[in-house]
Amino acid sequence: MAKLANPQETIQVLQRHDFHFRKKFGQNFLIDPHVLDKIIEAAGIGKEDFVLEIGPGIGTLTQYLCERAGKVLAVEIDPKLIPILQETLSGYDNIEIIHGDILKQDIQGIADRYNGGRPVKVVANLPYYITTPIIMELFESHVPLANVTVMVQKEVAERMQAQPGTKEYGALSLAVQYYAWPYLAANVPPNCFMPRPAVGSAVIRLDCLSRTPVAVKDEKLMFRLIRASFNQRRKTLQNGLTNSSGLDFSKEEIRQAIQAVGLDPAIRGERLGLEQFAALADELARR
Ligand code: SAM
Repeated sequence: MAKLANPQETIQVLQRHDFHFRKKFGQNFLIDPHVLDKIIEAAGIGKEDFVLEIGPGIGTLTQYLCERAGKVLAVEIDPKLIPILQETLSGYDNIEIIHGDILKQDIQGIADRYNGGRPVKVVANLPYYITTPIIMELFESHVPLANVTVMVQKEVAERMQAQPGTKEYGALSLAVQYYAWPYLAANVPPNCFMPRPAVGSAVIRLDCLSRTPVAVKDEKLMFRLIRASFNQRRKTLQNGLTNSSGLDFSKEEIRQAIQAVGLDPAIRGERLGLEQFAALADELARR
């Protein structure tokens, strides 16, 4: 089977199978071989690796992965793509395709079964409508991960890397940076996809940390504080936390905790780094 990574091959496969793009699945297939090379290079894949691919589409990136990795498992939600994948990937014996929703898979079970519990590499041109849930599911499941190399909306890549005090900084920046070291591998324009997305894209590699950068007693509480602070971005930290439905501390408890960790109650949440959110969570958990 010819390599799919160009417009002509892609159109031929789509027409042969009478496939029509489904917007609701975030289908924008890659058609540029240089971009595919960049993704593979950024992911640093070798024959010893087991790779989980999310959303293989017609198998364009999957073909590249199969050539480099030891074993590839691809999870695709759209049933119409399964017979296409069986055709386009028929030349490889190191691929397995699962028809299903990535958010409903037992990723820990996959890591155990296919890779003996060793760290998995995840590679994907993600469906943009569920980028954040997928990334958070991967991290919060505490599945052993080596790195996650993904195509995302450019603006999302910027948020993942953002530092306190910038307009891009938010709950996603803190969550990603708690679990991983983000590295921007490439910016990718809309004409590298079929159909073209309305936004610019970027390849970002998240190198998963073996130890979290801060120690916190109650991780869930810390993330509830983070979400509450950024849900009401314009408010002070004190007001944001007091008015949040996800938290049940009194105004006084919050005021005292903010002071106990040496912060000004008038500060905004967007100024705080991970260490300060961790300290605040520990302080509130103690009370
Ligand atoms: N990997 C292909 C490529 O680069 O050409 C396709 C990428 S396309 C941006 C996203 C793919 O994810 C589509 O094939 C879509 O059907 C699939 N998808 C969407 N939601 C999914 C989900 N919840 N679980 C698994 N796959 C999903």
